Amino acid sequence: FRNTLTGRSLSLPCLSLSLSLCLSVSLSLSPVSRLSLSCLSLSLSLSLCLSLSLSRLPSLSLLSVSLSLSVSLSLSPVSRLSLSCLSLSLSLSLCLSLSLSRLPSLSPLSVSLSVSLSLSLSLSRLSLSLCLSLSLSLSPVSLSLSCLSLSLTLPSLSLTRPSLSLSPVCLTEANVSVAVSKGYVSGLLQLYEDWFMNDCQHEATVICHALLRCLHQVSHSTAGRQAVFSQGGLRLLYQTTQCLLEAAVQLMRKCLPKTPLPLTSDCSVYTFTLPGGSHDTPEINMSSEDEEDEEDEEPDSRDDVSDDDLETDLNKLRLRPDPDRPKELLVQYSRLCPELSHDFQSGDSSSSSDEELVFPAHSSRRDRRRSRDQSSAGSHSETNEQTPGDGGSDQEEEGVEDSAHCTMIDRLLERHGACIPHHDPRLYLSAASKTRSIPGFSILAFPDFWGHLPPAGHEAMAPRGPHIQRLKVFQDIRRFLNTDDIINQVVFDLEDSSVQCPSDSLRFYSKFESGNLRKAVQVRRNEYDLILNADTNCSQHTQWFYFEVSNMQPDVPYRFNIINCEKTNSQFNYGMQPVLYSVRAALEGRPQWVRTGDDVCYYRNHFCSSRGRRTSTFYTLTFTVTFKHHEDVCYIAYHYPYPYSTLKAHLKQLQRCVDPSSVFFRQQVLCETLKGNSCPLVTITACPSSRSWRDLHQLRNRPCIVLTARVHPGESNASWVMKGSLEFLCSSDPVAQSLREAFIFKIIPMLNPDGVINGMSRCDLIGEDLNRQWCKPDPSLCPTIYHTKGFLYYLNSIGRTPQVFCDYHGHSRKKNVFLYGCSVKETLWQSGSAVDTVGLKEDPGYRTIPKTLDRIAPAFSFNSCNYLVEKSRSSTARVVVWREIGVLRSYTMESTYNGCDQGIHKVCGLQTGSRELQEMGMKFCQSLLSVTKDSRALYNKKLIHHIDLDDNVLDHKSHK
Ligand SMILES: [Zn+2]
Repeated sequence: FRNTLTGRSLSLPCLSLSLSLCLSVSLSLSPVSRLSLSCLSLSLSLSLCLSLSLSRLPSLSLLSVSLSLSVSLSLSPVSRLSLSCLSLSLSLSLCLSLSLSRLPSLSPLSVSLSVSLSLSLSLSRLSLSLCLSLSLSLSPVSLSLSCLSLSLTLPSLSLTRPSLSLSPVCLTEANVSVAVSKGYVSGLLQLYEDWFMNDCQHEATVICHALLRCLHQVSHSTAGRQAVFSQGGLRLLYQTTQCLLEAAVQLMRKCLPKTPLPLTSDCSVYTFTLPGGSHDTPEINMSSEDEEDEEDEEPDSRDDVSDDDLETDLNKLRLRPDPDRPKELLVQYSRLCPELSHDFQSGDSSSSSDEELVFPAHSSRRDRRRSRDQSSAGSHSETNEQTPGDGGSDQEEEGVEDSAHCTMIDRLLERHGACIPHHDPRLYLSAASKTRSIPGFSILAFPDFWGHLPPAGHEAMAPRGPHIQRLKVFQDIRRFLNTDDIINQVVFDLEDSSVQCPSDSLRFYSKFESGNLRKAVQVRRNEYDLILNADTNCSQHTQWFYFEVSNMQPDVPYRFNIINCEKTNSQFNYGMQPVLYSVRAALEGRPQWVRTGDDVCYYRNHFCSSRGRRTSTFYTLTFTVTFKHHEDVCYIAYHYPYPYSTLKAHLKQLQRCVDPSSVFFRQQVLCETLKGNSCPLVTITACPSSRSWRDLHQLRNRPCIVLTARVHPGESNASWVMKGSLEFLCSSDPVAQSLREAFIFKIIPMLNPDGVINGMSRCDLIGEDLNRQWCKPDPSLCPTIYHTKGFLYYLNSIGRTPQVFCDYHGHSRKKNVFLYGCSVKETLWQSGSAVDTVGLKEDPGYRTIPKTLDRIAPAFSFNSCNYLVEKSRSSTARVVVWREIGVLRSYTMESTYNGCDQGIHKVCGLQTGSRELQEMGMKFCQSLLSVTKDSRALYNKKLIHHIDLDDNVLDHKSHK
């Protein structure tokens, strides 16, 4: 009986008794014949009597007699049930007599006796448990507990029936206080730990339950709670239950039968016939690597960069600025450098846009006309007062709108006075009417039309409730096992507009620019499964979502499950929330995208592809939204949307706002996309202070900075950063003025307009990641990449290799903002290459901008940057522009969707808003001052003070 008995100074008789008991127990459990058992028990009872008589306790002789009787009886070949009853009554009488004898020291014995009796019978569990609980209720907890633990260590005794209950132990307050005051709580906990350690097969969970119930009873008293806490109960329970429940939940989740997504096909609803008449290739990505391999999803920490992936071939690390095409083909790009030939005549506007199309892509005129017919504009909204109306179709010239449309919008604007800086709903309307989408969108999303302001306050990262994932998985399992309240009705289907939804269900809609929601299924009354549309012409890359929801009840929590996410993890597990825009709030003067959603969680689910796709593991993003208003129309998105038409309207607005006497602003068309949308290229620099040869010469010798963004359409945060850069560069800020005087900015703010327009996450219409096409971009399939690269070659060929190239991206699995650059030495060091790097000369200038940003940009994390050249990224913009164009400072800038976990407290722990993203775009531009050659601008005290640079940051040696 382990510690409890031996721990006390026991008299000889007690010891012998306990010994004999142990013996009898173990013997009774061994597979011996009954006869031998009876003999044994007889001898035992004899020894018992002997020991008792030796103890000279006359009052006990009576007991010994009853004991021997009971033993012998129990061995008689009677049915087990009667036996157990008998033993029960005997043990009862024993206990009673003992307690009557007022020999407290003996009460443990009585208990052990009753226990051993029942054990020796090794029979129906019912009697055993009864005996146990009864004996326990008689207060000597520790003893019975040790019996219990003994029984646990005996594997032959399987206590599987949930009949065992220890809880009577503490049924009364008196018992509880005795148990606590005598320190039995530690025994309980010890026993619980024993159970946890030994019962690996989970054969005795009933004991665990009983113990927990006991502890529950104990915790009813203050002393009990203190005892549990001081004995380390909290930690013990936490650790043991964590792994147990977690394991159980994981097990259940795994064992849920795989369920195909309720789709007829995984392929995107949108298909596009590729130039050259080739058929749609929906499975185009089937051969691509299984694991994520994306510029924005580089490994989670620098340590994770696989050394195998590092480029160690010096030839491939060597810069080789030779064009991939005949030099004759580069001349056409001279038109994209209007500032070099502009004569800056007085009265000649230096800010303009030329929308001429120089490189028509493969879309036919017929196609364009059709798409224009379809792209009539209007806001989708059934709520009165919120409808700018439809119409405005077939607009050839912006500003020409039909009168009904016009008055509706005028009335809206007049009544509600939208006042968003750098946004004009009319300009947006005009831009959107020209935008060509695959489905031919004819509806505008209200937030894009009306505009948005960042909310006034800061939005902290969402606190994550304990075990939220377990809770959600539990609910999913319950949904599977208990189907009473399951509705399972499709309420929205992108492919089937005839879907009727019940009057009390939510209404969904996503057929607008950048919208993405393929299907909505009402699962339970206030729970919806949502399925996202794969990227056009392929069957994967689901991440971005943007949809409208209406017909909600206010103050009712609705659970949304996006059930076909693909990434293995998400910042949604680390404080990030989706964003929500309420039309009602907007019209009341709060046109804001706000972070929203409780119980946000991202986890692997049991769905599989609707038909055999190779990788078919899906993840659920779940969140609960409680809408505030009645009869509202709301929009929910992965991140602050920034559609193509928004960009077009913004550029138009910028052009209107700049001061043409000081800012040279020119918007041109780089090329047309596959769908026939124009890909804008913006030139920003300072007008010369005079038309003197000297000033014009200075302008024409300014180094170029090339900025690009949004090659990945789902990364809308990159567009907000770009918006910040553009607005800053056009502003009257003295640093902006210095930058314009020092550089010529060539900006391509959206490398993948078609992807953005059609609500895609990753690809272009060809179903490929455009940021993997830079090595050999196909002019007909990837026109924007082909021409961007051609333009960079052109700059190179006229001796104007950009001083900095930066491609803006968004990162869904990391916090903060950081840069990826390219360094031969760091790559070789990291890879452990045997190449001798001592003789290698490398300009350390690639670190200047990150160092500067680390000082001036609160969201920037220098420690998250790296400068490794990976084989798997050899076809990304960053690596190709570095290696082939020879741009030393060639970067990918990654901005989080979530927020920051470092830096000054101003931003730490907050979710990034569009304000912070725009600020980051501004800071990036400011950091460019650190690479300027113009010492006058550099040492202008005001500027240095302004951006807080110091000599350490300014790395002059890095300039060639
Ligand atoms: Zn990206």
